[in-house]
Parts: sequence; structure tokens; C-alpha cells
Amino acid sequence: MKILVINCGSSSLKYQLIDMDNEAVLAKGLCERIAIEGSKLTHKASGKEDYVVETPMETHKTAVELVLKALVDPVHGVIKSVDEISAVGHRVLHGGAVYSESIVVNDDVKRVIRECFDLGPLHNPANLIGIEACEAALPGKKNVAVFDTAFHQTMPEKSFMYAIPHEYYEKYHIRRYGFHGTSHSFVSKRAIEFLGLDKNNSKVIVCHLGNGASLSAVLNGKCFDTSMGLTPLEGLIMGTRSGDLDPAVIQFIANKEGKDINEMLNILNKKSGILGMSGVSSDFRDVGKAAKEGNHDAEVALDAYKHRVIKYIGAYTAAMNGVDAIIFTAGVGENDAAMRKEISEGVSFLGIKIDDEANKKRGEEIVISTPDSKVKVAVIPTNEELAIARETLALL
Ligand code: ADP
Repeated sequence: MKILVINCGSSSLKYQLIDMDNEAVLAKGLCERIAIEGSKLTHKASGKEDYVVETPMETHKTAVELVLKALVDPVHGVIKSVDEISAVGHRVLHGGAVYSESIVVNDDVKRVIRECFDLGPLHNPANLIGIEACEAALPGKKNVAVFDTAFHQTMPEKSFMYAIPHEYYEKYHIRRYGFHGTSHSFVSKRAIEFLGLDKNNSKVIVCHLGNGASLSAVLNGKCFDTSMGLTPLEGLIMGTRSGDLDPAVIQFIANKEGKDINEMLNILNKKSGILGMSGVSSDFRDVGKAAKEGNHDAEVALDAYKHRVIKYIGAYTAAMNGVDAIIFTAGVGENDAAMRKEISEGVSFLGIKIDDEANKKRGEEIVISTPDSKVKVAVIPTNEELAIARETLALL
């Protein structure tokens, strides 16, 4: 059985066709610059040369159509007909407080995705177009919505309520929702299995450190707290996002520079984080190189980044009154051994000891703490596409 996974971003569409019999990726690719000049599809199929199509893509609908065409292309494709696709799993950014699990798309689901346009203005409209394009192109096939917010719906009120007048929660559902839920769910479940923890008596902290980054505190297998909020802007310092900040900073800069609130949020989302602090790049490798070469701002950016992760680990340990395991995942978490070591050293008061040899390994699930470490520390590679495909299969 083959499942297509679609992940529509604001101007991009990532996809994978996965054979669920052995969970092998048959083909994957990316449509870039959708609705912008210079749109391009890059399609990769195992054992074949990359296939690049440069053609205008007015909307995500055109992109979906091009993806299906590439999948059945006589030379570059991997299936003879789109009928071979059993179902489509869609990553959907925001499910509000309605969905705590993945769901087969029907009119109600589409209405909720539409009602959440305000909460996910860049992603939810694209997600809905992607779903409707698949409905049109693959009639009779099920579409499943896998929400980035769903895993976090088990948070208690004390974790998700903001300390602002209650009327805003009642009128507009202003609260913390959390994101990267598919990854936090996949990684925390795997951590419990891999480390042999008792699910019903477990305290796990997942550090999803990619370009976007968030932590979650997972108590007895369920999300108890997470660092992203109403939108993905809250929490950790990220590639281009500021994370936590005194809201008065926004007013101050806006007044001094004559900027409106939308411009300020654009700065906080796209021009801040390690990019803004270092002035070098949003890529941790570039900033790390600059820091090694003596760039003070780059060094401070990385120090501040680690400092914030350490503070959140401390906070979540206190919030759960203990921690059994700390897991690193995503681009930085999976690849940057020095970062893992320094963050772990920052919470060594918990009795954590890192095994330097194990910590050097890459690309595999591995325990990186020593056997006598009081808290287990591990790397578990995330795989959001596979998680979406499994959720889709489970609903068929
Ligand atoms: P996202 O899905 O949020 O775009 P990823 O999880 O793919 O992000 O992570 C991308 C980030 O991972 C990049 O910013 C890159 O700097 C970082 N990264 C990848 N490899 C390394 C490495 N070897 N050392 C440090 N950072 C790395």
C-alpha cells in the first residue's frame, strides 16, 4: 500500500511517496517558490536521476498536479497510475483546540482548518488548498489531516493559559497550542520504547532543535507542556525567530523605527534568532564557523541559544518534578554533538554524564549518556513524513 505525504508551507510543498509494506520512500521532492517568480519542482526517486521542472505554479493546486505528474512520469516516475496511491496524509499546521488526533478529512474538518486561518495565516490556507487539490485529482481516495498542534492538546490549563484577561480566551481562543506535534509525538513514543521506560510512569523532555525549535515535557506519554505558543514564535531562540521576548520590546522598536505591528512580527519571525543576533546566517553550521573564527556576535548567539534550551530543560524538569530522559532530535539535535554535550553539561546537576564516544555517532538512535548517568540522554532521529504516513494508514 502506497501513501502520499504532503506538507504545504507558505510558498513550498514537500512530498514523499511511501510504500507502507516496508516503509520505504519511493520518491520525494519539493516545490519551491509557489506563487513567486521562478517556481521549481525537484523530484528524487531512488535509483533515478533528479528530475527538475521549472514552470510557473500559481497556487499549491498547480504544485499538487505537478507532483502527481512527476510520480507517474514514464522516465522519472515510480508508479504507473495515481490509482496506486491508497491515501494522502497532509501535515496541517493548526487544528485549534478541536482536534487532538489525526482525522479523515470531511467537510467539518475543512471548516475547522478554515476557521484556524487566523491562527496559522501562512500555512492553513496552503494546507487546505493542498487537501482540495488532492480531492479533485484523486477522487474517492481518503485524505487525512495530521495536525501539528494535536499532540499538545493534552496540556493542562495551567500550561496552556496565558496570564491575560480571560475574555480573550473566550472570544478568540488565545492560548498556547504548541507545534512540531508530529515530531514530539513520534520521538517521545519511540524514546519510551527504545529506553524501556514505563509509559505510565515516565518523564521525558524532547528537544526538537531544527531551524524551528521547540521543547516538550512529556509526562506518562502525554504532552504536559511545550515551548511554542499561539504561534511558533514563542519559546526557544531559533534560526530566524526570537522566541521568548518582553512584549514591550515590540512597542519600543515600532515607535522608534516607525514600523507597524505586522512589520514587527515579520522581523521577529524571519529576521531574528541566531540570524538576527549573529548577522551571519540562520544556519547553525555557518554561525558555528563564524564563532570559531572569532566573530563575537556569532559566539553570543550560540551561547544564548544553548542558555535558553538549558533554562527550558530546567523548567520542565521542575514542572514534572523530575526527568527520566532527555531526547535530542531534528537538524541540530541530531547532528551537532558539541551542542548536545554543552546543553547536557548545563544541566549536569541532574546527575547527567555524557559518553563522548557515543555522542560522536550520527544518523542513528543512540543513548549518549553513560550507564551510571542518573538521567538517560539519547538521540532519536525524527521522521515527520513517516509519522504522517503511519497515522494515515491507521485511519484507513
Ligand atoms: P527545519 O525542518 O526546521 O527546517 P531541520 O530539522 O532540517 O529544520 O534542521 C535544519 C538545521 O539543522 C539547519 O539550520 C542546520 O544549521 C542544522 N544542522 C544540520 N546539520 C548540522 C550540523 N552538522 N551541525 C550543526 N547544525 C546542523
